[in-house]
Order: sequence, then structure tokens, then C-alpha cells
Amino acid sequence: MKILIAEDDFISCKALENNLKEWGYDVVSARDGNEAWELARANNIRLAILDWNMPGIDGIELSQKIRNEYQKEASKYIYIILLTGRGGQDDIIQGLSTGADDYMTKPYSFVELKYRVQNGERIIKNEDKRIRLASLDNLTKLWNRNKIFDFLDTELKRGERENTPTGVVMIDIDHFKRINDRYGHLIGDEVLVEVAGRLKNAIRPYDRIGRYGGDEILVVLPNCGNKEAKNIAKRLYDSVVKTKIPTEVGSLKINISIGCVSNEMSLQFSRMELIQASDKALLLAKKKGRDRIILSKGL
Ligand code: GH3
Ligand code: MG
Repeated sequence: MKILIAEDDFISCKALENNLKEWGYDVVSARDGNEAWELARANNIRLAILDWNMPGIDGIELSQKIRNEYQKEASKYIYIILLTGRGGQDDIIQGLSTGADDYMTKPYSFVELKYRVQNGERIIKNEDKRIRLASLDNLTKLWNRNKIFDFLDTELKRGERENTPTGVVMIDIDHFKRINDRYGHLIGDEVLVEVAGRLKNAIRPYDRIGRYGGDEILVVLPNCGNKEAKNIAKRLYDSVVKTKIPTEVGSLKINISIGCVSNEMSLQFSRMELIQASDKALLLAKKKGRDRIILSKGL
């Protein structure tokens, strides 16, 4: 677990850093608030130990920025401990009310801090579990609709910042209703789970895949233009269609239709515009006889 220390006093900072490293944590440390904010954004930090009075952004403002901006973007709970010489009751109230999880006053005991960090670690683990469960689709264990939308928003923002395109692939099982009608809903579920698993195995490690609804699955492709989106769509298609899906009632031949798109022409396109374009391409694939991939020309 990576911990950020923001502390302007060199000796205190080093002592804290050495202790945390000895306890097995990864540590990045900054000597002022601005540097701490930069480090937080560049590193995958999970816990922050912040001094209050520092040059640049102070610990209180930093705590708010980590909670409201960094945590949101990272989609992970960040545990914040304020570690400060300000020990008045009003200070403690103000510190905790701005979003810090814990508050310690200097001088402090390293042993006490160790236990407080361990408590933080336990809370982070529970939060991770809770967030994960709330973000997953129950049946397929893919990300749910809200979560995949969040990923797409984040990717679009990153793409605009870094001047890279984002791809979207919309996948829908062909005549899925017939599977339900012929073999029952439970076999339909089995097919859906297997299709989802195959698609998940076929994406790149940094792509995201979620259940858009019913038998529709949405894949978000960071740093991906039209050509690459189509290539990935082909790989996804093959993963489902090339070999039959094993079920309780035997192996079933399943086909899928895919609509894909990227915003390489204009990075300003919104989430909705991209989804609509991929939906339209998917509809066209269905109209043209299903079992095919269509790249949207709409964007
Ligand atoms: P098309 O080729 O046009 O996509 O035909 P389709 O039958 O797949 O399309 P349609 O949208 O008419 O039906 C989707 C079906 O997916 C209808 C619904 O019963 C089924 N479905 C949606 N969610 C689930 C689920 O969680 N489990 C099962 N077994 N079926 C589901
Ligand atoms: Mg369908």
C-alpha cells in the first residue's frame, strides 16, 4: 500500500518515512502542499499523512482536494490522517469536518501512529470490497452500467488532456431471446455469463468492460482510434463465435453483433454521443443480418 507524507519539516518527514518503510509500506513524501498534490496525482496512493501548516496548499485544503478530486478520479477510497502541531479542540473539529479520517497531534508516538495506519488499512480494504460489490453486475461480474459510464467519462477526460482518442464497442447477442424461449432462462444466464467471461478475457489489460443492460455489453478502449477499435472488436467477436458455448443442455452456437466507434475525429465528443454512435452501428449490424461488426462513420 502506498502512503503519501506531506510534511515541511525535513527531520520529521524523514523519521516518519523511515518508520513507514520499516513497517512495510511504500512511501512518497513531499515538503510542501503543491508537491504533495502533484505526487498524489502521479502515484497510486491509498493513505495520506498530512501536516496542516505547509507552504503552498495547506493540509486542510489538500485533504479536501484528495477527497473531492483525486479520490473521485481514482475511484478508490483514500484514508487521510492529519498529523499536526495544532491540538486545540477547534482545530481538531475543523480538521475532521473537512474530510480527514483521523487526527493526531504532535508530538506523537510512532507506535500509536502505526496502529492508526493499520486501522486505516483495514477501512480501505473494507471500502474497496464495498465499492467493488456495488460496482459489479451480479450475474456476469462485469462492471455495471453506472460504473462503466464512470470509466468512459474518466477516459474521455484523460483522452482530451493527453490528446488521445477513446474507443467504444457495443456488443449484443443475436436472438438471445430464442435461447431463453427454447432452453429456459437459466440456460440463457449460463450463456450470458460465458459470453461475458470470454469477452473479458479478450480485452487489453487497461480496457474496461461492463454490462450495459440485458444482453448488451459495453467495452471502453483507452487510447484507441477507429482502426484499432475495429481490430479489438474482431478479437472480441472471435472469442465468442469461434467456439460453441458449453451449457447444461449441450454446446450452443452463439453469434453476436457489434457496433464500434472512436472519437479520433474530435476528442470533444461526449459520452452520450459515443454511446449513441456505437448503438446506431450495432442497430445497423442487426439490420444487415446480424453476426457482424460495424464501425460507425458517424463521428
Ligand atoms: P437481437 O438479435 O435483435 O438482439 O435479438 P434478441 O432476442 O437478443 O433481442 P431482444 O432485445 O429482443 O432480447 C434480449 C433478451 O435478453 C430479452 C431478455 O429476456 C433477455 N435477457 C435480458 N437480461 C437477461 C438475463 O439476465 N438473463 C437471461 N437469461 N436473459 C436475459
Ligand atoms: Mg440481443
